[in-house]
Amino acid sequence: MTGTGSPIPDPNRAGPSQLVVAAGRHLLVDAGRGCLMRLAAAGSGAGALDRVLLTHLHSDHLTDFNDVITSRWIGGFPPAPLDVVGPVGTERLVGDTLAMLGPDIGYRIAHHEDLESGPEVRVQETSGGLVHEDDEVRITSAPTEHRPVHPTVAYRIDADGGSVVLAGDTVPCAGLDELCVGADVYVQTVVRDDAIRQVAIPRLMDVLDYHSTIADAAETAARAGVGTLVLNHVVPAPAPGQEEELVGRAAEHFDGRILLPADLERIAVSVA
Ligand SMILES: [Zn+2]
Repeated sequence: MTGTGSPIPDPNRAGPSQLVVAAGRHLLVDAGRGCLMRLAAAGSGAGALDRVLLTHLHSDHLTDFNDVITSRWIGGFPPAPLDVVGPVGTERLVGDTLAMLGPDIGYRIAHHEDLESGPEVRVQETSGGLVHEDDEVRITSAPTEHRPVHPTVAYRIDADGGSVVLAGDTVPCAGLDELCVGADVYVQTVVRDDAIRQVAIPRLMDVLDYHSTIADAAETAARAGVGTLVLNHVVPAPAPGQEEELVGRAAEHFDGRILLPADLERIAVSVA
């Protein structure tokens, strides 16, 4: 878990991102605030990534995406292309990000004789279906429901005899249910509807419209028969010691294993 936080800055939780290590590949799902610091702590880094998978284009899931691009480029000898998968709109996001980095890219090319061109980012947009398949790793996506943020996708990675679904922000929906069927691990961003209703600030109330609650995530997990539910990006973040109570709420709807991890917790998906 390279980032278990949310848009709300938190001293202990980086913004949303997860590193999936599967058959030796390093797959980064979303690139929230601080993800490169957490990747460094996890023994990975921008140069080690085989792919970046973006669930949607909300800023909190992308805060450090530009840093991934720059760090991979400037730290590669020679720089390797970065493969990015995301929903429709990702191509434009990458173009805009490279435009934002334009001055920096120019400075570095002018300064370093061995750099002749800017970062190469290869984009694959997905609306659902097969994203990548080889002898060891299969990546599929499915459309999710996070309107007015649209389109959005969730990913499933099958490898090493195990499977993990990383859902991003979404309310329960058919695409997610289908993707989750029989998965070993299902990671879902969640909000705490009770805590948000107590504060009742309109802009905070709005987030209830398009996220899964803890109960929603648990019900999706139960319908799909997953092995483990991972609650991520909890808004508001649990106070120290409150994790057990929130896990208990999910357990009212789902009989499997439930985790509410801290940053840098490592979750075994399967033993091949
Ligand atoms: Zn979002």
